[in-house]
Amino acid sequence: MAVKEFKAESKRLLDMMIHSIYTQKEIFLRELISNSSDAIDKIYYKALTDENLVFDKDSYFVKVTADKASRILTITDTGIGMTPEDLENNLGVIAKSGSLAFKKENESKDGHDIIGQFGVGFYSAFMVADVVTVISKPLGSDVAYKWESMGADGYTIEPCEKDSVGTEVILKIKENTEEESYDEFLEEYRLKSIIKKYSDFIRYPIKMDVAGK
Ligand code: ADP
Ligand code: MG
Repeated sequence: MAVKEFKAESKRLLDMMIHSIYTQKEIFLRELISNSSDAIDKIYYKALTDENLVFDKDSYFVKVTADKASRILTITDTGIGMTPEDLENNLGVIAKSGSLAFKKENESKDGHDIIGQFGVGFYSAFMVADVVTVISKPLGSDVAYKWESMGADGYTIEPCEKDSVGTEVILKIKENTEEESYDEFLEEYRLKSIIKKYSDFIRYPIKMDVAGK
């Protein structure tokens, strides 16, 4: 399978994320949950005008699942999902290239704060994960696709299985190093406190399921 390269500008942001120059790694969860919430909003607004689509509040949620043994953290949503083209266009490039320019300009002033204030988006997952897999089934489609990346080398997209419409973002959480510990991102109390801190206003339920000690 052909590995596709990230666009030059995306590569730079990706590089910053992989080498995580920021202290607030925890914000990756805010970014992924906000993407999930946006994706559910999109179904919600579609349902307002599309009589064939019923928005049943109870079926729309975000779920955070952690498995300590495999170091896998998954953010699942029942949102609108992504077509293979969306995966290519939205995850292969930076959505808001303006924010990168802004960051570059202000980095030296207060690198730590910038990331807290501005959405850095999906790529922030690479601050805590060395493999990021996105499995998505778009509304109105019978097929699902898997986008996968280990960062710098690019990404792959291929068909895969998924029962329901929506998206799963699967993070292989980094191993601890001498300087950094990543274990906390698999701990229920820690995940809960990050969600409370940054995602308290999210309009959809955020469920959680943590396995392992
Ligand atoms: P932003 O949210 O500011 O657009 P991101 O980098 O966070 O930038 O996300 C890029 C794009 O990828 C989103 O605009 C959206 O189109 C798509 N996307 C990311 N996560 C999801 C998701 N869970 N469901 C559907 N689309 C998503
Ligand atoms: Mg976003």
